[in-house]
Amino acid sequence: MKKIIQRIIFGAVLLLGLVAVANVTTQTVQASTKVKDGTYVGTSKGEGGKLKVAVTIKDKKITDIKTVESHETKGLGSEASEQLRAAIVAHNSVNVDAVSGASKSSEGYLDAVKSAVKQSGAPLSMFMSKKKIALSKGLKKSHYTYDVVVIGGGGAGLSAAVTAAENGAKVAVLEKQPNVGGNTAVSGGEFNVPGSDIQKRKGIKDSKAQFVSDTLKGGDNIADPALVNTLADNALGAYKWLKSDVGVRFHKNELLQFGGVSVPRAVVPVGGTGNEIVQKLLTKAKKLGVKVYTSTKATALIKPADRVTGVTATNTGKTVTFDAKKGVVDAAGGFAANVNMRMQYNKKYDATYKTTAVAGSQGDGIVIAQNIGAQLVDMKQIQTYPTSNPETGIISYVADSRFSGAILVNQAGKRFVNESGRRDDISNAIMAQPGHYAYLVWGQEVEKLGKTTKTYKKEFKTLKSDKLLFEKNSIKGLAKSFDIDSKTLVNTVDTFNGYVKAKKDPDFAKSAAFTPIKKGQFYIEKVAPSTHHTMGGIKINTQAEAINTNGQVIPGLYAAGEVTGGIHGTNRLGGNAICDIIVFGRIAGKNVSQN
Ligand code: ADP
Repeated sequence: MKKIIQRIIFGAVLLLGLVAVANVTTQTVQASTKVKDGTYVGTSKGEGGKLKVAVTIKDKKITDIKTVESHETKGLGSEASEQLRAAIVAHNSVNVDAVSGASKSSEGYLDAVKSAVKQSGAPLSMFMSKKKIALSKGLKKSHYTYDVVVIGGGGAGLSAAVTAAENGAKVAVLEKQPNVGGNTAVSGGEFNVPGSDIQKRKGIKDSKAQFVSDTLKGGDNIADPALVNTLADNALGAYKWLKSDVGVRFHKNELLQFGGVSVPRAVVPVGGTGNEIVQKLLTKAKKLGVKVYTSTKATALIKPADRVTGVTATNTGKTVTFDAKKGVVDAAGGFAANVNMRMQYNKKYDATYKTTAVAGSQGDGIVIAQNIGAQLVDMKQIQTYPTSNPETGIISYVADSRFSGAILVNQAGKRFVNESGRRDDISNAIMAQPGHYAYLVWGQEVEKLGKTTKTYKKEFKTLKSDKLLFEKNSIKGLAKSFDIDSKTLVNTVDTFNGYVKAKKDPDFAKSAAFTPIKKGQFYIEKVAPSTHHTMGGIKINTQAEAINTNGQVIPGLYAAGEVTGGIHGTNRLGGNAICDIIVFGRIAGKNVSQN
């Protein structure tokens, strides 16, 4: 579901993840060539007329291709172009075989992608593997039978799959992308755990009740308290399971305190991203015999009568049926990357908002469940991440300096919000500023605590070369970098340093991370909100069973993770998404396996 780190992760996922396309050595991209991240449009002539595609390039990798215009009624339908897309993305190469029986259309598609790539200014040779990529022949059979079929290979889906397999079930995971991971892999991976070993070591008092109270309050008390209590009751167990059963490594002494959370509560996986969780879950799943079908998109749930009995999917253009003897777990994530769906439920989140979400976050899992009668809740609740890259939309991890005390100022050089407040409050405040962006300002005291420029060195470098971040030895210097009135900015920082001393912020009631901004080098980073998490989705009960529009359980259908609604209310607290996906993924996996 984005930031530089996401680019790093995406690269890692590409390397480590499962690839459903035939074996070919992925080419190495020339490290020295500079390519600007962005989405580039290319056109060509297909068999049926004009073909237009939008190619997204991040960190020298083609991460997504969308067809903008196509008239290929005969040769190249959406499924064949999906085959080409998957191969290009998986191998970061446009040197791909044509789809058999659709050579002219394939050439048209590849030409459109090449023309888009050229718009980026990169030499085409960067995206041409030496060897031509052979397209996957796809799945051999058109019908498979498992005990449990899980839709989506993110954190929720993989947790459900591992748990069901641990309980003896024969499990399949269907993942529409060439690689597993979803938004989980590109997230920060922080996990709110009340009562963790780290809290104990640090002498931090916390409780399930405090977790429940923070979560309900953070979501304006519209979340389902039963679900929030389930989250709190199972968070510690889920964390222990990840550590001991799955082998996820967490930093031993690090805890983060996100906005709206009353104490430092979030444990942090090694590497500072969710990819640690995804890769360990994937390894465990494979060990347990879970079959992961990548490039396999669930298109419908099979419900011949009262019960969901399987999934219809597509793989390399062919329809494949997966019977699920015990049931289906829908863990297909949210819809933050789907502008139309966002606007269907909340007009505010139009295309002016970029997104932190991965391309797969299209809401498919919600739609296919709704099609068989599932009840949806809180669909208009869409969260933005306040401090994202204003050009690419991806989360800025360097901007996590905010959690260590960096302040936000506007173009006038003035503070305008409590920087340790809720994501929605900060996002709304930034959107209310001229230009809908803001600047984060910090110095060495903050840097010493958060070390974000060092931990996310690659992102830091890119932000600097993209002129979105400047490092200077004076506050005046920072102001000049973005044409801010330097007297005002100096005055803002001085005033804030006074508040730090008094541990009281009379202007915006900042509640945490009172850190001075006195010692250079200083940093200023331009940030803007991006859509990040969709709180709405399939209604579930505490057993992760999907509920229909009459309020009854839909037998055979479980749902977990961002595809569900009702847990986070109007606003998800930082650190609660990983908690949600692991807790409810495990509940779904356990219950479905016991059918
Ligand atoms: P969560 O955090 O709830 O696990 P993620 O975004 O991490 O959500 O993972 C959801 C996964 O589901 C993504 O990898 C996404 O590509 C996948 N997905 C979405 N729609 C489908 C679909 N129709 N079929 C198969 N996989 C899907």
